[in-house]
Amino acid sequence: LDLNLVPIFEDSDEFGGVLLVLQDVTAIRRLERMRSEFVANVSHELKTPVTAVKGFAETLLGGAVNDPETARSFLQIIFDESDRLNRLIGDILELSKVESRRIPLQFSPIELSSFIAKTIELMGSEAVRKNIRISVKVEPGIYVEADEDRLRQIIMNLLANGISYTPDGGHVSIQAEPVINEAAGRDETDYDHIRIHISDTGIGIPKKDLPRIFERFYRVDKARSRSSGGTGLGLSIVKHLVELHKGSISVSSNLGAGSTFTIELPVLQ
Ligand code: ADP
Repeated sequence: LDLNLVPIFEDSDEFGGVLLVLQDVTAIRRLERMRSEFVANVSHELKTPVTAVKGFAETLLGGAVNDPETARSFLQIIFDESDRLNRLIGDILELSKVESRRIPLQFSPIELSSFIAKTIELMGSEAVRKNIRISVKVEPGIYVEADEDRLRQIIMNLLANGISYTPDGGHVSIQAEPVINEAAGRDETDYDHIRIHISDTGIGIPKKDLPRIFERFYRVDKARSRSSGGTGLGLSIVKHLVELHKGSISVSSNLGAGSTFTIELPVLQ
């Protein structure tokens, strides 16, 4: 609480009393703290690849460049870390845009079964490389009003995580269903929400980490996320995008058995 005392004078300049102003600044302080934590996190995340690039370049300049084999492996590291830096910067910019709601959404009706089929085609190569089967269970004729590019981004991100955190030979599935509000006496064609579930048979997420999984830069296993090219920002971006569609996202998971992410979207904005 911020406390201010304001003296009050009457017309005759006579002291009339004191006005006590109490202001709850908890929310403001929390925002300030979150902002400075974010800046600290960003700096730390950016420093890691920059330090690697600088270190390996220095070693090359110091003579390692004369050994072709060493030179090649160091250059590969410099290349990979620059790539990572690029991805990080892209995700940080993207997150800052969605957080400040500076992205205009263009809503149009989208038929889910063909939309999901097309989206999955874009994910094919990584799934094939890991011999992961992707299955789809979406009835034709379910429509949702959404920004097509952003919805694609949401689904691709969740599918990419499913593939990335599932061992070779596993299974990722996507399922969509209309949510019928029976209480309101509606029939099967009269749904006001849809649910999309994206499940995998992967490593799962420990219970204690589940509530934090959508926080920026939060990763269960930093090394694993790093080696699979993750930035730790994907799920925060996805959550913001879903919320921009006035929807919600949740997760359930069994450690060692797999995870399911569920998005719920209103049919009409
Ligand atoms: P990252 O770039 O690290 O994948 P995300 O924001 O997409 O970042 O996810 C945050 C963390 O949540 C990941 O580091 C991982 O620990 C966990 N995670 C996300 N999706 C899955 C999944 N399908 N299975 C297991 N863990 C997951």
